[in-house]
Amino acid sequence: MKTALVCGAGGFIGGHLVKKLKRESYWVRAVDIKEHEFAPTHADEFLLVDLRKEEHCKKALTLNNGTFDEVYQLAADMGGMGFIHSAECEIMHNSALINIYMTDNAAKMGVPRYFFSSSVCVYRDMQPGEPEMTEAEAIPANPDNEYGWEKLYAERMAMAYERNRGMTVRIARFQNCYGPEGTWTGGREKAPAAICRKVAEAEDGGTIEVWGDGTAIRSYTYVDDMVEGIFMVMHSDLVGPTNIGCPQYVSVNELVATVAEVAGKHINIKHVDGPVGVQARNFSNTRIYSIGWQSKFDLKAGIERTYPWIEKQVQTAK
Ligand code: NAD
Repeated sequence: MKTALVCGAGGFIGGHLVKKLKRESYWVRAVDIKEHEFAPTHADEFLLVDLRKEEHCKKALTLNNGTFDEVYQLAADMGGMGFIHSAECEIMHNSALINIYMTDNAAKMGVPRYFFSSSVCVYRDMQPGEPEMTEAEAIPANPDNEYGWEKLYAERMAMAYERNRGMTVRIARFQNCYGPEGTWTGGREKAPAAICRKVAEAEDGGTIEVWGDGTAIRSYTYVDDMVEGIFMVMHSDLVGPTNIGCPQYVSVNELVATVAEVAGKHINIKHVDGPVGVQARNFSNTRIYSIGWQSKFDLKAGIERTYPWIEKQVQTAK
């Protein structure tokens, strides 16, 4: 039986990845600084650790009968645009420490295959209509925020360990990911979850506030597609970062319209000042298509699976 360590398994994508690995018959140790808020863990073992501490990384990586076959590093101090713009020091400090200690100790302990979760936040701001960017075009670098700079640093660190320490490293740059069992309130939620929550709280015919003018262009990847992509990238020969993203690009206003349609409500938008992030994103998926990955869920299909879960959280919290 193959063994896997999932770091950040008390979080959204890590929690779903554990389920995927169990379906693939792995023995899984899940680690996080907190337990999962929304679902019981499906892992064989769950350890509470603070991966900013080197000894906790060593504890997470230690198996009685050898090393893990695969390590998936998804732990990060993480949130939507509101968090990313207000917690620059925490992101630069906490996520960098996690990656420094995890990468170094995984290599020292002889982990054969290591996955690092990066982000399309490593790319510069784009204008709508610009040709799509390949992975190599992240350099020369000009990310919009410190979160993107930390991811770039951690990518380069992992690649240095692959070149110099013989650890096979696979890196994926995730597009915005959404789905059930993710943060939906409290300040760290990302745009799809925040819009679902606001629509769930609104009356039919009501008005919700949206940061910015609603024209920013994004693509949103449903979490089942994301974990499938993570698993495929990890088992591929793709050296260096690989984008994972649904190729359907929509404006924030279109995202609201999709959520409102799924909710069966007429919703008005009030645009207010707030951290918006980049104006547009348009990435090449050529690399991940080369290993046979395709997103299966368009935005409507993903929201149809996400909105009812968030609506239920809103009702329960009342
Ligand atoms: P998440 O916040 O739900 O999960 C991250 C987990 O890391 C959390 O459970 C958190 O408690 C844990 N963590 C933070 N500090 C820790 C520490 N010191 N020790 C141990 N655990 C710690 O976020 P997510 O959406 O599941 O993201 C997973 C990964 O994917 C992150 O690296 C994130 O940067 C990356 N990513 C996510 C998205 C997205 O849209 N969700 C997009 C691009 C990249």
